[in-house]
Amino acid sequence: MSTLFPDPADEAESDLLTGLNDPQRAAVVHAGTPLLIVAGAGSGKTRVLTHRVAHLIRARGVRPSELLAITFTNKAAGEMKERVAELIGPQAKSMWVSTFHSACVRILRSEADRLGYTKSFSIYDSADSQRLMTMVCRELDLDPKRYPPRSFSNQVSNFKNELIDYEAAAAQATSHQEQTVAQAYALYQRRLRSANAMDFDDLIMLTVNLLQAFPEVLQSYRRRFGHILVDEYQDTNHAQYVLVRELVGPAVGPIPQAELCVVGDSDQSIYAFRGATIRNILQFEQDYPNATTIVLEQNYRSTQNILSAANAVISQNPNRPPKTLWSNAGAGAQIVGYVGDDEHDEARFVAEEIVELGRNEGIRPCDVAIFYRTNAASRVFEEVFIRSDMPYRVVGGVRFYERKEIRDALAYLRILANPQDEVSLRRILNVPKRGIGDKAQEAVETLSRRERITFWEALRRCDEAPGLATRARTQMQAFVELLDVLQILVESQTPPAEILEAVLDQTGYLSELRTSLDPQDETRIENLAELEAVAREFEETAASNDEPATLFEFLERVSLVADADSIPNGDDGGGVVTLMTLHTAKGLEFPVVFLTAMEDGVFPHIRSLDDPAELQEERRLAYVGLTRARQRLYLSRAVSRSTWGAPNYNLASRFLEEIPTELLDWRREAEVAHSDRWKAVPPRTPSVFAPAARRSSGQPVLDLAPGDRVTHDSFGLGTVVAVSGEGDRAQATVDFGSTGEKRLLLRYAPVQKL
Ligand code: ATP
Ligand code: MG
Repeated sequence: MSTLFPDPADEAESDLLTGLNDPQRAAVVHAGTPLLIVAGAGSGKTRVLTHRVAHLIRARGVRPSELLAITFTNKAAGEMKERVAELIGPQAKSMWVSTFHSACVRILRSEADRLGYTKSFSIYDSADSQRLMTMVCRELDLDPKRYPPRSFSNQVSNFKNELIDYEAAAAQATSHQEQTVAQAYALYQRRLRSANAMDFDDLIMLTVNLLQAFPEVLQSYRRRFGHILVDEYQDTNHAQYVLVRELVGPAVGPIPQAELCVVGDSDQSIYAFRGATIRNILQFEQDYPNATTIVLEQNYRSTQNILSAANAVISQNPNRPPKTLWSNAGAGAQIVGYVGDDEHDEARFVAEEIVELGRNEGIRPCDVAIFYRTNAASRVFEEVFIRSDMPYRVVGGVRFYERKEIRDALAYLRILANPQDEVSLRRILNVPKRGIGDKAQEAVETLSRRERITFWEALRRCDEAPGLATRARTQMQAFVELLDVLQILVESQTPPAEILEAVLDQTGYLSELRTSLDPQDETRIENLAELEAVAREFEETAASNDEPATLFEFLERVSLVADADSIPNGDDGGGVVTLMTLHTAKGLEFPVVFLTAMEDGVFPHIRSLDDPAELQEERRLAYVGLTRARQRLYLSRAVSRSTWGAPNYNLASRFLEEIPTELLDWRREAEVAHSDRWKAVPPRTPSVFAPAARRSSGQPVLDLAPGDRVTHDSFGLGTVVAVSGEGDRAQATVDFGSTGEKRLLLRYAPVQKL
C-alpha cells in the first residue's frame, strides 16, 4: 500500500532495513544482550554494523555521542561515518567511529595528567621506539649482536599486547636473557615517560591501565558509551579485548551493561604476529554468557566460482568450525591462471590483461587491484606500468611518512608541541648541521643523568655540561633560543601549515636543500611541500567539521595514519590500479583482483613452511585475498623469480593446488624458455612542474610599539603590551581582553595594526 504522505519515521526505518536479508536484519535490530556476528567474507558484516549504527540512532533514539564504533583503519572509520551520514544525516558527525588507537588517544589526551603525562604527549611509531630502545640498550651496555634492540622492541611489544607491565615481566623472568629484556623494558618505559611519549602499544595498554586504576574515569566512559561496536573482531589482541570488556562492563548501580556488538570471521585472522588471537571470537560466548550469536551465510560480493575456490582453500585448515557460504551471483567467469617465465613476464601479463579487460569489458583501472605477499614485490609491476602508461598507485611500501625529510620536519613539530620528546629532539639537534656533534650531545646527556633532568632541560643548562666546547655551547644556546621563538607560534595557535613553514624557514632546513647539488634534495623539497599540503587539507577538513585544528591535532592525525588510509577512492576518470599487500587488503573489495606470486616460499611465506600455525595463518591470508574479488580473479606465479639478485626457482603455491581444477582456466602453463625480459626502466624523475615548497609568507614584519591597537584573525581586538626582538624574530605581547595575553611572532601572526 502506498500513501501520498508516508510517516517519515516509518519510511526512515524501512530504508535502513530494506536491502538486508533476514539474519542481517535481525542483527541490526537486536537489542539487550551482547551480540556476536560471525560470518565468512563478503557476507555483509561491515554493512550490518553500519546499518546497526544508523538504526540505533534513528529507530532507538540513541544519541550519536553514546556510540563507540571501532574499525580496523582510519579510512574504514571515515567511510563508515560517511555511510551513516548518508543514512541519518549530519548528526553522525559527533559519533566516535575510529580505530582502537585513535579512540585510545582521545581518551588519553583528556586524562593524560592522571598518568603523569601532559596532554601534548608524543606518539612514537615503530621507528621512533626502535631508536629509543637502541639508546636504552646502549645505556645498559648491551652488546647489540647478542641483544639486538629490534628483538627487544618486539618482545616489549608482545608484553604490552598481553598487558604485562615491566614489573610483571621482571617477576616472571627466569633466564638471564629474560631478565635482561625485563630490565630494558623498565628503562625503556622510564625513558618514554620522561620524554612525555607513548609508543603504539602503550596507547592501548595505558588506556586499560587508566580505566582499571581510576574507577571514576571508567564510570564516566561507561556512562557515556551505551553502545560499543567492533568490526574485524578476529584481529583484536588481548589488550584490545580487555579494553572492550572494561568499557562494556557489568551493570553497576544506575549504569547498565553497554550493548556490545562485534563482527568477525575467524578465517580472516591475519595479525597473530601482532598478538591478535582468534580466542577472542571463539570464546565470545564464554566471555559474555548472555550473548546471542548470528550467523550470516549469503555472500553478496563474489561469484560462486570465486567463493568455491576460497572455500576449498580455507577448508584445508584443521580445527575450524565448518561454515557454509554461498552466493547468488551465479557461477561467473572461470578463475584465470597464468604461469610466467619470471616475474617480469608475470607483470607484463597482468598489465596486458588489464588493458584487454578495459577494451572488451569496460573495466576501468580503479576496478582492479593487484595483491602480493610482501611490499618489495610492487617494484616489478611499477616498472611495467610506467612503461605501458598504466595509471597506478602503490599503497604502503616506503611510505611518505617514513622519508627522512618528512620525519625531520615532524620531529621539529613534535618538539614544539612537546619539548620533552627526546627521540625527536635528538633527531634534529644537528639537522641541519649546526656543529653539535656526538661528543657535545654526550656531554648534555651526562648532565641530564647527573642532574636527573630531561635532555631538553639539560640542553637549556648546557653551560653546566662538563667538557662542552665553546662553539658547541653557543650553537646549543642558539638552538634553544630558536625553539623558544618558534614555540610562540604554537602558543598563539597558529595553524599547523604555517608553523611548518616557519620551521623549515627559520631552521635553515629548506635553504640547505635549495642550495644542495644533490638531485634527491629537489624531491625532498617537493615532499615537504606535500606535507604542507597535507597540513592545509587537514585544516580545511577540520574547519568544515567544526573540529579544532591545532598543531596537536595535526600531529595526532599524522601519527595514526596507516597504509590502508591511502587507498585511492578515485572514481573520476577511471582512477588508478591499486597495488597492495594482502594484509592491507582486508575488508576491501574490487571487481577484478590479481593475486600474484603464488609460489611456495613466497606465498605461503618461506618462514611458514615448517610451522603449522604460521602456515594456517598464511592460508587465512590467502582466503582474505581470494575473497576480495567480485567478478574476476586471476592467480599467477613465475617459474623463476630473482631474490637479492639471484634467480630462484619456486614450486607452485600449495594454495593453487588446493583449488579444484575445474574452477581454473590456465591461460599459460607451459614453461617454455622464452624469456622476453624487460630492460631496466630508468627511475622516475620528478616532474619539473611539481611546485617547489612555497616560500613562507613574504609579508613585511609589522612595526609595533606598546600601546598600539591591533586586530588578530582569531583573537580579535587587542592592545600591544610589550615588544622584543627584530626581523624574523620580532615578537609582541598583546592583551586580547577576555582571551588573555598572547605572545605573537609578528612575521607569521595574522595581525593588523589599527
Ligand atoms: P569482509 O569479511 O570482507 O569484511 P563483510 O562481511 O564485512 O566482508 P561487506 O563488506 O559488508 O561484507 O559486504 C560485502 C558486499 O556485499 C558489499 O558490497 C555490500 O554492499 C554487499 N552486501 C552486503 N549485504 C547485502 C545485501 N543484503 N544486499 C545487497 N548487497 C549486500
Ligand atoms: Mg568487513
